[in-house]
Amino acid sequence: MTPALFLLACGAEVPAPDVAEVLLVTVDTLRGDRLGYVGHPEAKTPHLDALAESGRWFRHATTPLPRTTPALASLHTGLWPHHHGSREVGQPMTHGRTLAEALSDGGWRTLAVSAMRVAGPEHGFDRGFDHFSIDHDVRATMLTQQALKLLDAEVDRPTFLWVHYADPHFPYTPPEDGPLSPEAKGCRDLIADLENKRARRPLVYGNTEGRAQEALADCQQLYDAEVAAVDAAIGTLLEGWRSKRGTDGWVIFSADHGENQGEDGLFYEHGPNVHDASLNVPLVVSGPGVVPGRDDGVARLEDVVPTVLTFAGQAVPEQLDGEPLQPRLAGGEGGPSVAFAESGSALHHVLHDYVVSGRARHHCINGPRFSLCTDKKGKRRLYDHEVDPGQKTDVSAKHPEQIEALTKAAALWPPESARERTARTSRFKLVQKPRLQGGYTTMLFDLTAGETRDVSAEHPEVVAELTAALEEWGAPTPVQAEERSEEELEALRALGYVE
Ligand SMILES: [Zn+2]
Repeated sequence: MTPALFLLACGAEVPAPDVAEVLLVTVDTLRGDRLGYVGHPEAKTPHLDALAESGRWFRHATTPLPRTTPALASLHTGLWPHHHGSREVGQPMTHGRTLAEALSDGGWRTLAVSAMRVAGPEHGFDRGFDHFSIDHDVRATMLTQQALKLLDAEVDRPTFLWVHYADPHFPYTPPEDGPLSPEAKGCRDLIADLENKRARRPLVYGNTEGRAQEALADCQQLYDAEVAAVDAAIGTLLEGWRSKRGTDGWVIFSADHGENQGEDGLFYEHGPNVHDASLNVPLVVSGPGVVPGRDDGVARLEDVVPTVLTFAGQAVPEQLDGEPLQPRLAGGEGGPSVAFAESGSALHHVLHDYVVSGRARHHCINGPRFSLCTDKKGKRRLYDHEVDPGQKTDVSAKHPEQIEALTKAAALWPPESARERTARTSRFKLVQKPRLQGGYTTMLFDLTAGETRDVSAEHPEVVAELTAALEEWGAPTPVQAEERSEEELEALRALGYVE
């Protein structure tokens, strides 16, 4: 293969290697702030730290929707969720050309191994791959072995390999022989109670009985241990990749979304809000022409496809929502300047902090004290969630006025449609949360100070600009997910997305 020259937006030229190779490594549910190279003191991630040191790492990279299927669909198509069609976990992507399809058409060998069933062939993820296999929830060490086996065949075509690890997804159960093995009794007991049905996942996610908060420090230790185990497995993968392919090529490391660990009142779950706990993902790009260093600008999962296409010397289709990161990988300016995202819906009906909770077939509209819930038979019940968060006692007869008020609100927000949304620059993050009475509450955060204080009043011009951008981005009200098959429901149950 003749070395090509990549013309970068900033004018620099980067020679391509003789053999182009791309390794895409993603880890499910990996927060952007729990890695050693970011400065997390408890992290034990030497291999990812070394990778970040050798490449460019994006501290504020984001997912466009913090749930597995839509996020990975954006990663693989370069499109926003309302353009590729997957806007909830388990909902297939229906539009867009995948990176594997583009590379395969360009003569590449395309390989994928994944440990997550909700991004599988039935969701469109095998498109363009010569080999695509799923071993659901398999440990990282095993997945690495499966990936490396695929590289044994001698080929002179360029190779694209995608490996998706699942380990840090809740429940946190790190291997006993991993790099970290904390006692963390509080969290281990909580997980055992969930497995033995002495505790209910949705009530833990919402900290209804206070147990999630009580176990937080221990659960964070177990989470760090899961991440350390994945780091070790990625170390083995990188070493095998280099020795079997004889080159590093380009290595891209990221995640589909993060995880709330108490932020916005949500524990060990991700999806129903747009807090950075679940929106911020790691993103590292390493390889020929990449100037090592930290980048604090906007970077998005949807930018990965145009970036890799540029590496591969292919044209970037105009209709993509992502932009190539090449100008910034070369240490310059340019690339994306605004990131948009929407939440998923609050999938569990007891999560009454959200205006609408539950699935279409069993959902609630939630006021400050009461929830009006409709079950799969269409039966409506009213609960006082202040005293009855588990939704056991129907109080309809006592509060007809609440039924009337919540029925009116329900007409404004169909099930699975009330979603938070956000637009951000490298410094500011505008957040809109659905209101019971319709419309959104808007807040502005200065990211240099975290997401605690609304600074809207101090920066009205930023609020106006980002609100207009968000309107223009305009993710429409989602159509409800089609009825799911039993197999699909089982997969979602295993992940804790349905009861
Ligand atoms: Zn995920």
